[in-house]
Amino acid sequence: METRTCTKCGQEKPLSAFAKQKLGKFGRRASCLECGKKANRAAYVAAHPTAKIGPSPHSGMTASERQALYEKRHPEVKTMKYRRARERLSGSYVRGLLADSFGVQRTLISDDVVELKRAQLSVMRQTKQLVQTIKEKQDERN
Ligand SMILES: [Zn+2]
Repeated sequence: METRTCTKCGQEKPLSAFAKQKLGKFGRRASCLECGKKANRAAYVAAHPTAKIGPSPHSGMTASERQALYEKRHPEVKTMKYRRARERLSGSYVRGLLADSFGVQRTLISDDVVELKRAQLSVMRQTKQLVQTIKEKQDERN
């Protein structure tokens, strides 16, 4: 294997660790790719003193962790989501209600119970609406 010694870090590395350069010795640059990266980074930092560099704070996070972080930073989005979930009596919303009122973990609540509670809430809502309509009609008469 052909090798070359980097003029920056002094390490002997295979030719593939050096960027190609037609005019250079062996057709490669004198410093290795690794040193080139470091130099590029240093030049960037010098030119952009306030830039934040390094791995993204989101790398290594799962999708749901990213989602949680996003909602923490944008609480209004969570409120909107919650409102929509409440409006359409989503399974997750109803399960949360049950978990809160009984003080148990969400995972312990079966789908059957969620369905029953959803039906109950739905009937209550419809009843409320009907009563409201009746009241309005009554007010019109008076
Ligand atoms: Zn090097």
